[in-house]
Amino acid sequence: MSDAEPIAGTVDQGGMPYCPTPRSAIEGIAWPALPNLWQAMVLSLLFQFERSQWWSPEALLAQQHRQLVHLLSHATATVPFYRQRLAGLRPAELVTPEAWRALPLLTRAEIQDAGDALVSAAVPKQHGPVSDIFTSGSTGRPVQARRTSLSLAFWSAFTERDHLWHARDRSAKLAVVRHADPGQDPYPQGSRARNWGHESRAVYATGPSVALNVNASIEQQLEWLARERPRYLLTFPTNALRLARYCLAREIRLEGIEQVMLIGEIAGAGVRAACREAWGASVADIYSAREIGYIALQCPEAGCLHVQSEGVLAEILDAAGEPCAPGEVGRVVLTPLHNFAMPLIRYDIGDYAEVGELCRCGRGLPVLRRVLGRQQNMIVLPSGERRWTLLSSGNIEGLLELAPIRQYQFAQIAPDAIEARLAVARPLSAAEESAIRSWLIARLGHPFALTFAYVDAIPRTKGGKYLDFVSEI
Ligand SMILES: [Zn+2]
Repeated sequence: MSDAEPIAGTVDQGGMPYCPTPRSAIEGIAWPALPNLWQAMVLSLLFQFERSQWWSPEALLAQQHRQLVHLLSHATATVPFYRQRLAGLRPAELVTPEAWRALPLLTRAEIQDAGDALVSAAVPKQHGPVSDIFTSGSTGRPVQARRTSLSLAFWSAFTERDHLWHARDRSAKLAVVRHADPGQDPYPQGSRARNWGHESRAVYATGPSVALNVNASIEQQLEWLARERPRYLLTFPTNALRLARYCLAREIRLEGIEQVMLIGEIAGAGVRAACREAWGASVADIYSAREIGYIALQCPEAGCLHVQSEGVLAEILDAAGEPCAPGEVGRVVLTPLHNFAMPLIRYDIGDYAEVGELCRCGRGLPVLRRVLGRQQNMIVLPSGERRWTLLSSGNIEGLLELAPIRQYQFAQIAPDAIEARLAVARPLSAAEESAIRSWLIARLGHPFALTFAYVDAIPRTKGGKYLDFVSEI
């Protein structure tokens, strides 16, 4: 992959109509752009996505099966876990519906227990360097995953697809309000970047982006938004809802926000209407997971979620393991198609979704009517202030090095007290408990009293979910 820096952008066009063109990497060439190799790969994917989205579900599935044979062959040949699990099975025969459904689901517990046995011993060199991703998802079982640099090209292409679908003006300003460590992106200044994403890898030049730590109070966030005047706001559904309701209740006007992009949780009922009413803004929902990438994006016409079939095979299964029919709710089982560093085959991510009918927009990409059970909880400080916990976004770096924790849940049981519910491989020492206490207090930014409760497993909620953090006050 070439590191050549692009030299031309699209943003400042001297008052000309907004016509986004990719950044060019060739000296003297501005238009049509000739991008570098990385950008060309992303654009090549995007070009194909523009066509494949209109294919029939059967045609999409047939191409997914072609790709799956490669993934399964690679997994059997280079990943110890699959050498055992798929022993004696031929990849080309596994992609028939019956054989595929006979494959056991991959659970988070298995990923934890497998450790390096799930890591490929021989990632094709062309897939680029491998990096770690760390996630707790929504199930309370932390997972460490690995991904290739190539899988980031897919990530970029789906990001571009989302911008295309929603006809976003890339020259506008994007404001991001999300989890960050204490002291990062702090109010009042937040942080600023010249581009919406990783500038060196960006396919298109964009306008600037600004970011604020979601632990800023609602009043601070609104003051910051009023000062920054972004056209697009990226944040969690529950945060968007609080902002919008606050504006409505106090008749605060916030000019210029055209669209709110929702990440990290599932948009509950009411957030759409509240954003529309408060700011006249539309809402675009994004369903993704760190260890998978994009799973589904909101249809620009119908508002449902379209599975990103070019990147992931998504199955929605009932209690018997059979595919759900439209209108039925089942567990979400995912197979990312291109990450050869740590193949996840039929991965039970812990979410539930309702299957929808084929979309009226004409796209053949499968439809999820809604995804359930990714709501997160907020912590309440003794002062009464409500804050996000960094824990619930999977931001648990460092925790697992402190003790052999298999599953965890932190519960606020009193205004000043947190209970750590842990399933552990062996009893923890006093020193380990003390280290966990220090870690948690640093994360929460308040000296809560911490007690420990040891459990065999973390119970699910009524909705069948695990929660990393619960408020019981
Ligand atoms: Zn659609």
